[in-house]
Amino acid sequence: MEIIHVSAECYPVAKAGGLGDVVGALPKYQTAMGHYAKVVMPMYRTKFLYQNDWAIDFKGNATMGDRYFEYTVIKEKTNKLGFDLYLVDINGLLDREKVYGYSDDTERFLAFQIAVVDWLSHWEHHPDIIHCHDHQAGLIPFMVKYCYDYNKLASIPTVFTIHNGQYQGWMGWDKSHLIPRWDNWKSGLLEWKKNINPLASAVKNAWKVTTVSHSYLEELRYNSNGLEALFEYEKGKCVGILNGIDADVWNPETDTYLKDHFTVETVAEGKAASKKLLCQQFNLDENKALIIFIGRLVGEKAADLLPDAILSSMYALNNGVNFLILGSGDPHVEWQLKQLAGQYQGNYNVVIGYNETLSHLMYAGADFLLMPSRVEPCGLNQMYAMQYGTVPIVRNTGGLRDTVVDMGDWQGWGIRFNHASVGDITHGITRAAGLFDHGQTHFGWMRQRMMEIDNSWENAVQQYINVYTSLK
Ligand code: ADP
Repeated sequence: MEIIHVSAECYPVAKAGGLGDVVGALPKYQTAMGHYAKVVMPMYRTKFLYQNDWAIDFKGNATMGDRYFEYTVIKEKTNKLGFDLYLVDINGLLDREKVYGYSDDTERFLAFQIAVVDWLSHWEHHPDIIHCHDHQAGLIPFMVKYCYDYNKLASIPTVFTIHNGQYQGWMGWDKSHLIPRWDNWKSGLLEWKKNINPLASAVKNAWKVTTVSHSYLEELRYNSNGLEALFEYEKGKCVGILNGIDADVWNPETDTYLKDHFTVETVAEGKAASKKLLCQQFNLDENKALIIFIGRLVGEKAADLLPDAILSSMYALNNGVNFLILGSGDPHVEWQLKQLAGQYQGNYNVVIGYNETLSHLMYAGADFLLMPSRVEPCGLNQMYAMQYGTVPIVRNTGGLRDTVVDMGDWQGWGIRFNHASVGDITHGITRAAGLFDHGQTHFGWMRQRMMEIDNSWENAVQQYINVYTSLK
């Protein structure tokens, strides 16, 4: 099958979170399993762009409202990612350093989507599937069906994957003229609650919708930032497929970001070496449990609870654990987390920013990973942590519920709690400290148990192929 993935992110080209990881891995494993997967994404000014060789694949032009624009599709020459990678360059719109966060993001991603469908309409053949990811590609299922200029693509099945349903790409009807001319009778298929809503439009128009875990699919029906009724109505075409993890990137035996590699047999020594490095670098106490948090400092991740939860745990445990935080986001949370560094010198540290190298060392060297998320579609951090023998402390939600079994349950290897509250997080951390201080044998068993879990992509790829096949 020939599948074209449309996404705003793809690791290692540009990544802001889990979307990048998935779109960097899924096509690679699809290609390895005998399919022909391609990725098309915006051409940002990233390191990857400058460090690789590109060939011009297509030059075209299109309009967005009364704005005429030219676009160029370039292709990475060596296929080094294991699939065909195409970048869309639109002068003045996409060629920025960051992926998101600009005041004209609506126009940027709309122009990207128009360029993609325009490019596809010039192909001599049709791909078997157009697979769109998140709201930045959410208008494509509508455009190929109902925009007059792109009607010739209408017979291509579209699949839409929701990696994060909180962000929906809303825009007012005053921007509707930016979408290429469409059949006006179909305006309702763009709309949700009086706005144009690209995520809702994708759910209505895509032939099939997938989410990145089963539990998240269930949760969307009662908690999806206003789209609950839509998910209830469309549940018949929605499927939950749990993400895999990319063993080429996330494997403690071969991880190119690590100095001290380890396997399930050498996990204790391997992790101790990485923990030592972290403790030296961040002035932490090697003899105490090391609890980490990695991620966006936003409400979805319950990052606002971290400062109080750390205070409360330090108090409850008499400073008996270490915390190391890596992330960026809400400026007030960043400020609060930085303040704690003075208060808990020797047991706490924080790095504000995005650091791929450090994140790998943290997964390898930590004893526990904390994820108190309010919403977690799949969550990759806990899966990476498990692969590196780091015990996850997670809230019982979404993909966290589907991937972590509490140590109190039969053969469980993690710590789960129910509420995104300071009390529940503190309780989880207290259980972790108890395990570390008094249950080292069981702790060792848990590490080995979780490292042996198969979270490989092959299984997920087969489920995606089944979805595509059902549309033929
Ligand atoms: P989300 O996509 O909601 O942010 P996921 O758990 O699905 O969350 O994926 C997060 C990915 O981003 C993981 O690969 C994680 O290691 C990475 N990540 C998040 N924040 C940072 C950071 N500050 N530095 C390095 N990596 C980060």
